[in-house]
Amino acid sequence: CGIVGYIGSKEAQGILLEGLSKLEYRGYDSAGLAVYNGETIGVNKSKGRLADLEAKLSTRSLPGNLGIGHTRWATHGKPSDENAHPHTDEHGMFAIVHNGIIENYIELKEELIAKGHRFTSETDTEVVAKLLADLWDGDLVSTVRKVVARLHGAYALGIISEYEPDKLVAVRLASPLVVGLGKGENFIASDIPAILKHTREVYILEDGEMAVLTADRVQLMRVDGTPVEREVMQVQWDM
Ligand code: GLU
Repeated sequence: CGIVGYIGSKEAQGILLEGLSKLEYRGYDSAGLAVYNGETIGVNKSKGRLADLEAKLSTRSLPGNLGIGHTRWATHGKPSDENAHPHTDEHGMFAIVHNGIIENYIELKEELIAKGHRFTSETDTEVVAKLLADLWDGDLVSTVRKVVARLHGAYALGIISEYEPDKLVAVRLASPLVVGLGKGENFIASDIPAILKHTREVYILEDGEMAVLTADRVQLMRVDGTPVEREVMQVQWDM
């Protein structure tokens, strides 16, 4: 039910956990992180509270400067470690977090299983990770656009990939998502409180829009690729 993402030069894990703690008010039954460590994407996730995830991280932390985090409010599949987000493809090249519901996941799942993909969770979300691998065309933004074109439902997505580890991609349709602008670092989150400690400059994404973040730049576009011009919003209030 909450998403955070970080790209920059600081350690992502603490920033993601702290951001997720600010989204606890939204309710959740599990939590997880995926962080790129310079070579591979590591995932650690747990049913239960953020404290349960932190306990797991204390024995296996996730170093790295690019990552995504999630608190889950289960809609498809019981609360469990396997169903917790992030979800990945079979080769761990993509990691994603998702808020919302993929309405057509059963037909997508059948199609992907017929093509040889193996699923490890009961979630609607996992089809997105498998679709990214299935439709991978050598370009992350272009592949995300192809994936999104196959999805019906509601989603805020945070996506990272070992193929293009200088990017964090976010997409939104009928689930909230904001982008936070930092200096040499950028953020995504379901809601402003998750990133307010780091920046007061935000973009509010609208339905059908995506954001492509690098450490130094944020590009907004429609999912059809049309560039979007958006005024930076200055957050005036405090937590
Ligand atoms: N539908 C997804 C799931 O059940 C995402 C739920 C959420 O928004 O947290 O895993």
